[in-house]
Amino acid sequence: MYKRILVLRFPTNVVDQPIVCRLAKEFDLSFNILKATILPGKEGLMVIELEGHPSQFDKGLAFLRELGVEIKTISQEIRKNEEKCIHCGFCTAVCPTNALYVDRDTMEVKFDPERCTGCELCMPACIVRAMEAHFHKELAEVG
Ligand code: SF4
Ligand code: SF4
Repeated sequence: MYKRILVLRFPTNVVDQPIVCRLAKEFDLSFNILKATILPGKEGLMVIELEGHPSQFDKGLAFLRELGVEIKTISQEIRKNEEKCIHCGFCTAVCPTNALYVDRDTMEVKFDPERCTGCELCMPACIVRAMEAHFHKELAEVG
């Protein structure tokens, strides 16, 4: 089984369709909706945990893309703001995947998005709010 947290952005013309239910029915994928909202202009934003057989997973994503749904992994949405980061290292203590780690040569804290699972544990740990999730900004804009 393959499991991923994805950020889906639905275009206005499909926002009212039961697309996620079709993922379950037609591709045998199980899902857990973590966040969902309609953005200004009526685009939809959804953070979803999707699980299924790898081949069905790929077919399900292809189905979404055909409908114009933009798909990003949660790690593509998470970044470290280098202007804010003071390299205190607090986040490295909570990051379960070592996506945040201390570079022993420079003693700077680095972020490896390939290892990030999007658990968001680093966000409350960071006193200067240097860890950012792009979709949080969109959600904040709609209140
Ligand atoms: S907790 Fe924040 S400021 Fe400290 S190293 Fe991590 S990202 Fe940088
Ligand atoms: S979101 Fe989770 S996995 Fe990603 S950097 Fe932060 S603590 Fe690590």
